Amino acid sequence: MKKLRVAVVGSGPAGFYTADALLKTKDFEISVDMYDRLPMPFGLVRFGVAPDHLKIKNVTRAFEKIAGHPEFRFFGNVDIGTHLSVDELKDHYHLICFATGAQTDKRMGIPGEDLEGSHPATDFVAWYNGHPDCRHLQFDLTAEKVAVVGIGNVAVDVARILCRTPEELKASDMADHALRALSKSKIREVYMLGRRGPVQAAYTNPEIKELGELDGASVATIAEEVELDPLSQQFLDASGDRKLEKKVEITQSFAKLPDSSGGKKLIIRFLVSPIELLGTDGKVTAIKIVKNRLEAAGERLKAVPTDKIEEIPVGLVFRSVGYRGVAIPGVPMDEDRGIIPNDDGRVIDHESGNPVRGLYVSGWIKRGPTGVIGTNKSDGYSTVKVMIADALREETLSPSRASADAIECLIKTRQPHFVSYADWQRLDAMETARGEAEGRPRKKIISREDVIAALA
Ligand code: NAP
Repeated sequence: MKKLRVAVVGSGPAGFYTADALLKTKDFEISVDMYDRLPMPFGLVRFGVAPDHLKIKNVTRAFEKIAGHPEFRFFGNVDIGTHLSVDELKDHYHLICFATGAQTDKRMGIPGEDLEGSHPATDFVAWYNGHPDCRHLQFDLTAEKVAVVGIGNVAVDVARILCRTPEELKASDMADHALRALSKSKIREVYMLGRRGPVQAAYTNPEIKELGELDGASVATIAEEVELDPLSQQFLDASGDRKLEKKVEITQSFAKLPDSSGGKKLIIRFLVSPIELLGTDGKVTAIKIVKNRLEAAGERLKAVPTDKIEEIPVGLVFRSVGYRGVAIPGVPMDEDRGIIPNDDGRVIDHESGNPVRGLYVSGWIKRGPTGVIGTNKSDGYSTVKVMIADALREETLSPSRASADAIECLIKTRQPHFVSYADWQRLDAMETARGEAEGRPRKKIISREDVIAALA
């Protein structure tokens, strides 16, 4: 049987599910080398999923199984574009799949966005999850009022983490530096700002419901803002979507809750858009918002600003309006959409519109930042179907150095501190043992230097 060597770049859910589908392929004997620029595997499961959502992280057990396949290798701490070029990968592999996710934030495009105290939610999430590149970031948690722009699940995560008590945070696998800082936070009020109504809210039901169950914070919506306008009501009625009805019900129920906790307040606003961040001495002091109404725009309802303007005094703003992918040198990029242009997973050349031989994508860098972790399974599997169909037609790269040893030798010269899967298993054991000693689920090792020292 013909052997194929495949590189998967990115070790998040999309990378692992792609590797899984490749290793289960019957048509070829496939070896998979997985790369990650970070020393640890699992991408967004480690650095994106909220630290208090430990159950969701159990998905790594499935990834561990995949990594146990004899034809699987992990090269962590190896950045494609820095340590190895895409051309070098092409010289060592028959097929290459990029599963690099969406690593940066979308911007709001309003005045004051860059004032001190205004941060992309992506940075805050990466900071509290112990991303090695974000551990030095500073957030002014002495502010009493905070705005989180957007009402997707990331905004919900950020708002929830800001509202958790120190005891709740301690039970999470949050990075130590974040646990220390957040435990001393002076935040009293968190505003989540949605530009459309409850029917259009991007959050999902378990996530919004959880906001009503926080130990030290009460959640509120404003009755007039969660009452449905005729167009939203019509849409909801026509949809017959029970989950969506439930979402609206939960959201509306928050308008009726008495403010009982005496603790922090989380206020979810609807039909408001930020139009400016105001500041003094370069630092955010307030967010100016405009009241919206909804108008039909094709199949969607879009937010249209009215003339009603309001200011909320806040000392901290998190922009959680979506993620976008980052370009990889040597690979086409659609900067408008923040994805690698592709047709069903085959990377497409900008100019010719033709597939680029041997290059594929899966996950968020393929379809944009949508769906839950499991969505990446069908996505990865569908990309692999296309990869195998091309390989069966012998439309692969023609690597001149397609051996496991050749690439390992090259990696050793470029990144002597690469992290293998066995290294990661040692780190994992150290992190859980250190966590146990403090009554926590895990105590993360954060910096690259500490990883190298721990493995020495
Ligand atoms: P998202 O679900 O796309 O939500 C983005 C939010 O930002 C929407 O409310 C959107 O409103 C709003 N927005 C966009 N541009 C805006 C602007 N200029 N001004 C004001 N608001 C704006 O993105 P996400 O929250 O980053 O989540 C990404 C993906 O990860 C989603 O699929 C999410 O479900 C998933 N995720 C899941 C979990 C979980 O399962 N627990 C946790 C975290 C993330 P419009 O709808 O009006 O555009």
